Amino acid sequence: MPKAVRFHEVDKPLKIEEIDFPKIGSNEVVLKILASSLCYSDVHVTTGVIPVKRPITLGHEICGEIEELGDNIIDFKKGDKTVVYFISPCGDCDQCVVGNSSTCNHIYESPMYGFSADGGFAEYMKVNAKNLVKVTGNIPSEFLANLGCAGITALHAVNFISQVNLGHTIAVYGTGGVGMYVLQLAKLSGAKTVIAIGRSEEKLQLARTCSFADETVNLTNENLSDRIKGITDGLGVDYVFDFVVSTESLNNSSKIISNNGKIILVGIGTQPISVNPKRITFKENCIIGSNVGTKSELKLLVDLAQKNTLKSVSNTKYRLDEANHVFNLFKDGKIRGRAFFDPSSP
Ligand SMILES: [Zn+2]
Ligand SMILES: [Zn+2]
Repeated sequence: MPKAVRFHEVDKPLKIEEIDFPKIGSNEVVLKILASSLCYSDVHVTTGVIPVKRPITLGHEICGEIEELGDNIIDFKKGDKTVVYFISPCGDCDQCVVGNSSTCNHIYESPMYGFSADGGFAEYMKVNAKNLVKVTGNIPSEFLANLGCAGITALHAVNFISQVNLGHTIAVYGTGGVGMYVLQLAKLSGAKTVIAIGRSEEKLQLARTCSFADETVNLTNENLSDRIKGITDGLGVDYVFDFVVSTESLNNSSKIISNNGKIILVGIGTQPISVNPKRITFKENCIIGSNVGTKSELKLLVDLAQKNTLKSVSNTKYRLDEANHVFNLFKDGKIRGRAFFDPSSP
């Protein structure tokens, strides 16, 4: 029987269990999971910050090969390599029809793989064929898995919510996997200077070597305001992408943002936060949220990956039975880039 990483109770170890081989409906496929990467939202599920149906198989950054197909499916065949778009917007509500499918009014009523339907930390899973994006070319499976959430979250924040353009200066506050893709996508969109802000020298180095960061600021031993003033001739940055979302990060962001600049909250903050409102008023700043992305953004990312325009961030491989170990590393801030499960690992 196939194995899966199952979440039963908040703040309790995950269980590695044997599950039944998935039984599919006529519009679904069975995927053999090639790689399934960890997102901090998975940690938020295990700590109760994001409530989910339980028990459930976690995992929403998924790359898999089609093993079995339902009778109605004509666009895919057995053996196709695919990436899963893990949410299922209705396509019909007033948000979906104007292209805001990541804020679909019915998003919680339809399968959200890894949250309300079994996800990809498993050897096999079933998924509706409409949630799949086909991949051609020889792209590492773990890179493709990343695109399913980290990639679309970054692209949506950079190109849809903030519309980074030629000549802009942007900063990423927090150096996790999504931030690494924000840096790359901002650079690809024409940003003049992209800056990574964090506390881990190792992660800041990854931002420089892998994600095109022109500058990095280490909060443990550098003065953020002074560094940003120096980098931007005193003007501040046009966009800050805040992955920490705390009172400290928001206040720091409000100090380094330019007049009329935008602060985009991308991380999932867990506590109420306060900010000095005077700065926001005087500089006419905007604080705005950004949440996952659309299926068309996922298709674009797959295309960019196929053309070697986008680079994979560091990916460390784990077995499914190492799930509790890797979740603990993630909670302790010790994952550089992304970590992923390869269920076929012995
Ligand atoms: Zn995610
Ligand atoms: Zn909708």
